[in-house]
Amino acid sequence: MSHPEVQVLDLQVVPSKGSCFIGGNISENSGGPKAVKYGVVKDYVLNLEIVLPTGEIIWTGSNVLKNATGYNLTQLIVGSEGTLGIVTKIVLRLIPHPKFDLLMLAPFNSVEKASEAVSAIFRAGITPSAMELMEIESIKLASKLCESTAIPITEGLEAHLIIEVDGNDLDVLMKDMEAIAEVLANFEVGELYFADDAQQKNELWKIRRKASEASVAAGYTIEEDTVVPRAELPRLIKGVRALALDNGFKVVSYGHAGDGNLHIRINHPKYKKSYENEEIQTILTKIFELVKSLGGTISGEHGIGLIQKSFMPVVFDPISMELMKGIKKVFDPNHILNAGKIFDLKK
Ligand SMILES: Cc1cc2nc3c(=O)[nH]c(=O)nc-3n(C[C@H](O)[C@H](O)[C@H](O)COP(=O)(O)OP(=O)(O)OC[C@H]3O[C@@H](n4cnc5c(N)ncnc54)[C@H](O)[C@@H]3O)c2cc1C
Repeated sequence: MSHPEVQVLDLQVVPSKGSCFIGGNISENSGGPKAVKYGVVKDYVLNLEIVLPTGEIIWTGSNVLKNATGYNLTQLIVGSEGTLGIVTKIVLRLIPHPKFDLLMLAPFNSVEKASEAVSAIFRAGITPSAMELMEIESIKLASKLCESTAIPITEGLEAHLIIEVDGNDLDVLMKDMEAIAEVLANFEVGELYFADDAQQKNELWKIRRKASEASVAAGYTIEEDTVVPRAELPRLIKGVRALALDNGFKVVSYGHAGDGNLHIRINHPKYKKSYENEEIQTILTKIFELVKSLGGTISGEHGIGLIQKSFMPVVFDPISMELMKGIKKVFDPNHILNAGKIFDLKK
């Protein structure tokens, strides 16, 4: 199949930046800080070449912006965690890079107030290009790892929101930031800090990026990737804190608050892995039941893989599970691709 009018990305020559590759991005339907404005990987994938487990090579769709033709095999492959086929070529929709961005740091002495402010900003009609939440413990740990004092740590501080707006008109962005500041004032925000230049922005983003690594190093080894409607973030945070208190573990949260996607990190005195024993599984089930009761689900961007699969029935009814297993069987009758990921299946 040839594609003369579009650029076809070949995975052998186009790895993505940093530690991950675009095949992994597609298989996990990855997101990131900018997903709040720009969406996730699925929003950019038009067509995929895949090698099926049975050996055939197919294209899943067409290189077009609209497609109402049959079932959407492209979107079925996105996020399928390498269980249905191996992605070998990718056709993506591209958009222009915005010319400007502004970055603000907003401190709160109450993490619940910080999380309440998140949905209020959207209700005010503003869509930031990033809106990240970092609880104080994650700020301290990541700042230490980066040897940075870029994020001020004041008396009583519980969390920071990192808020970015981007676009092509600087005046509009300044007005957006003013409007955001007005909203934040209703949520007991502390003194706002604006990054002046690219170096300061990079330093703030570096601290956010290091939150995961720093938390693991400090013993917060169990990470959950919960996602709820963003207006429910305060209830999620409150509920998880209560569970931590009742069950004797420490918890720190950070993540893509604008998407309601909160990474909950657990430091348990006895268990360092989520699949280690029944006690930790029971705790995680309680967290996921809370997430479900708030209208959310158990993974926003990390996927299910091997270690989350036992929790799939918390969020899916048996009929949905059977439908998914049926799809796997159609694609992979011999069960050879990433066997055991997402769910167990008998051959
Ligand atoms: C510090 C840290 C921060 C992270 N932050 C984010 C974040 O902000 N947002 C986010 O979405 N994720 C995040 N992640 C999770 C992870 O990095 C992403 O999901 C990433 O996109 C996975 O890509 P990878 O190349 O590392 O994939 P891998 O981990 O190598 O693979 C992931 C899965 O995809 C399958 N796979 C890989 N290539 C192909 C292919 N060509 N065809 C079919 N299947 C394939 C693999 O078999 C595997 O099941 C983070 C992870 C870490 C460690």
